[in-house]
Amino acid sequence: MKRILITGGAGFLGSHLCDRFIKEGYHVIAMDNLITGDLKNIEHLFKLEHFEFYHHDVSKFIHVPGELDYILHFASPASPIDYLKIPIQTLKVGSLGIHNCLGLARVKNARVLIASTSEVYGDPNVHPQPEEYWGNVNPVGPRGVYDEAKRFQEAMTMAYHTYHGLETRIIRIFNTYGPRMRLNDGRVLPAFIGQALRGEDLTMFGDGSQTRSFCYVDDLVEGIYRLLLSDYAQPVNIGNPDEITIKEFGEEIIKLTGTSQKLISLPLPTDDPKQRKPDITKARSILGWEPKVSRAEGLKITYDYFKSLSKDDLFRMAH
Ligand code: NAD
Ligand code: UDP
Repeated sequence: MKRILITGGAGFLGSHLCDRFIKEGYHVIAMDNLITGDLKNIEHLFKLEHFEFYHHDVSKFIHVPGELDYILHFASPASPIDYLKIPIQTLKVGSLGIHNCLGLARVKNARVLIASTSEVYGDPNVHPQPEEYWGNVNPVGPRGVYDEAKRFQEAMTMAYHTYHGLETRIIRIFNTYGPRMRLNDGRVLPAFIGQALRGEDLTMFGDGSQTRSFCYVDDLVEGIYRLLLSDYAQPVNIGNPDEITIKEFGEEIIKLTGTSQKLISLPLPTDDPKQRKPDITKARSILGWEPKVSRAEGLKITYDYFKSLSKDDLFRMAH
């Protein structure tokens, strides 16, 4: 039986990865310090013989008994309000955390896959973004703590690959959504759906002309699974190229939820990228991957999930 360590395993993406690798017949070890994650995301796995949870900060030395075949490094605050609140921990998990994971991988002779991000492209001057684009990041702006941590993480991973011959994989994830996102994580989808469910106006930042391309979580997980088992060590974009402005996205959420509230404009955060859309030529040719779930289908599933939360959760998670 293959053994896999998933850091950030109690988070949104990490918990879906735990589900997938359990389904594929792996022994799954989730590690998380719960700084932005929630045990509720994985409590359904606790009773399983082949699932373990370690409450641990991966920026500190990691000890895992027994063999490991794979390590997925997903631990990191991921939403702008999270990493702006905890900037130093964000920089640490992207630097000390990945160093610990890579060191552990050498000892265990394991393959490592890291969660990088479209944020390595910053506010991109090239559109859509191919992996060859080096990006346009402000290192000392508010988003720098996240973007530069992720860029360092890629550099460190590539150095272990080149100098130690470690097997490594790098995925650049574009905006992904689905059940188990936190309603109060500040990302646009939970923000808009939460506001609609609470009967509040939807807070669009700026004039809403900035674009994003939203990928449903199951599609992303399939891409991660394929990349992990591939033999490709260079970065690969995984995301849905179906691009939309934030204003149009808000209008879609208003229609979906049937709310009578409206879009209101708040100031645009500093360095907010103006456009983002993945070039997925590599994912298509190397992994035979492309997204299958349309935004209409994915949003419906995600809305049903948020609707199923109790009123208490809805208001507790509002702020
Ligand atoms: P999330 O906040 O739901 O999950 C992150 C998890 O990491 C949380 O459970 C948190 O408690 C844990 N964590 C943070 N620091 C830790 C530390 N020092 N030690 C142990 N655990 C720690 O966010 P997510 O959306 O699931 O993102 C997961 C990963 O994917 C992150 O690395 C993020 O940068 C990356 N990513 C996500 C997206 C997206 O659209 N969701 C896009 C690009 C990249
Ligand atoms: N956004 C918005 N209202 C919100 C939250 C976000 O208009 O309540 C905008 C934000 O300015 C950005 C886009 O939606 O242009 C996506 O933001 P998110 O935080 O989800 O992801 P990221 O900026 O990291 O891509």
